[in-house]
Amino acid sequence: MEKEMICIMCPRGCTLHVSPSLHVTGNFCPRGKTYAIEEMTHPVRILTTTVKTNHALHPRLPVKTSAGIPKDMIGPAMSQVNHITIKGPIHIGDVIIKDIYPGVNVIATASL
Ligand code: SF4
Repeated sequence: MEKEMICIMCPRGCTLHVSPSLHVTGNFCPRGKTYAIEEMTHPVRILTTTVKTNHALHPRLPVKTSAGIPKDMIGPAMSQVNHITIKGPIHIGDVIIKDIYPGVNVIATASL
């Protein structure tokens, strides 16, 4: 059965149609085809969240993964993130959790 999805790779938001044999239509550019096939075969997401700190004024620090991780790894990754408390000083871009998924780190998106 054909699947319909919105391409999120740019603001144009093309409506993509993907056949069971992974034939993609509706994409204005090649990135849409790549996105649709990855979404069907190996969907990944960037995890954006916060971690607990020991700093009274800034009790949470925003973090994100350095690349997309498989959608079914988001829950386990959140579980790891929720079990740590970090101490400052932290600089934007510092690695907070190394290899939360092979080759992907959780990094700070703000300083503490
Ligand atoms: S298919 Fe290309 S133009 Fe369309 S939303 Fe995706 S990236 Fe943008």
